[in-house]
Amino acid sequence: MANLPDRHEPALPLGNSLLQAPLVDPFGRSITYLRVSVTDRCDFRCFYCMAEDMTFLPKRDVLSLEELDRLCSAFVERGVRKLRLTGGEPLVRKNIMSLIAALSRHLGSGALDELTLTTNGSQLSRYAPELASHGVRRINVSVDTLDPVKFKAITRWGELDKVKDGIRAAQAAGLRIKINAVALKDLNEHEFDDLIRWTHGEGMDLTLIETMPLGEIGSDRTDQYLPLSEVRARLAERWTLVDIPYKTGGPARYVEIAETGGRLGFITPLTHNFCEGCNRVRVTCTGTLYMCLGQEDAADLRAPLRASEGDALLQAAIDEAIARKPKGHDFVIDRTHRKPAVSRHMSVTGG
Ligand code: SAM
Repeated sequence: MANLPDRHEPALPLGNSLLQAPLVDPFGRSITYLRVSVTDRCDFRCFYCMAEDMTFLPKRDVLSLEELDRLCSAFVERGVRKLRLTGGEPLVRKNIMSLIAALSRHLGSGALDELTLTTNGSQLSRYAPELASHGVRRINVSVDTLDPVKFKAITRWGELDKVKDGIRAAQAAGLRIKINAVALKDLNEHEFDDLIRWTHGEGMDLTLIETMPLGEIGSDRTDQYLPLSEVRARLAERWTLVDIPYKTGGPARYVEIAETGGRLGFITPLTHNFCEGCNRVRVTCTGTLYMCLGQEDAADLRAPLRASEGDALLQAAIDEAIARKPKGHDFVIDRTHRKPAVSRHMSVTGG
């Protein structure tokens, strides 16, 4: 990791970076949020996300941590204010803490508002204090059920107790936590009250997510899909849901639950898409930039990144890609649409 800039080094030469034009797409949306899948590998096999026998990328195709740092920093120079590391499972990438330490220099310089990650929580007991020491303040942890047997069935390989230990370690380290749960018909649809009580009781936010048609998973997604419009209506029979303007820079719309005082978010790409306010792009661990989670179009940033030590080629490729950012996605889940809307899995693009 010798080449990664130390977080105590002076910030990037901002005089230079301020000359770079901010990224604005053809629909006038400013791109201020980058999600980076740092690895396609994961220690879980959530059935709606991956097939059990996934083939992972050969190591040579994957960007080094130094290259990921350069890539992220090129976006920060262009006005990205929020970086989310995801995957696969970001905390299973070898030496991931050195990348987080390096990227934290942009927090120190004020160029970045937030450095965060989405994790399955399996490695949090080990890494939580270090994350906090590098300026990470908030993380998302994915927990779809509080029933250990169902948890095993959904994740195939995960242990709920280990994840809960990780969550406790993260809270002890001072990290704020949002729990993400994918709403799954028949599987966790009768557990949302319990998830609300648990998360809000522990001072965490909860966000429910509609399952998206990404990648072949070896089963029919129609069987899992649960529209959140329906979930919200059912919750409103038991809880007082008060719309609030709270925003985290992501796509969730939030309510406060009067009975708990906690926040509940809804991510509804199918019943109510959120494309008009999209401020995000995603880059994979191979340096492929996806301008939309729900479209196939992509730009290769690895070739320009590796072609020279300077960032001119890379910045030109980023400009060209942002000029193609589409207006939105066209997710559909029903019995006439058997194939996924996009062929790649969520673990490739990063959730
Ligand atoms: N391993 C990390 C984790 O579990 O949070 C980060 C990557 S995971 C792909 C990110 C999020 O995407 C998780 O909350 C997961 O439940 C969600 N996800 C995966 N596949 C999805 C799909 N097809 N539709 C909706 N959400 C999905």
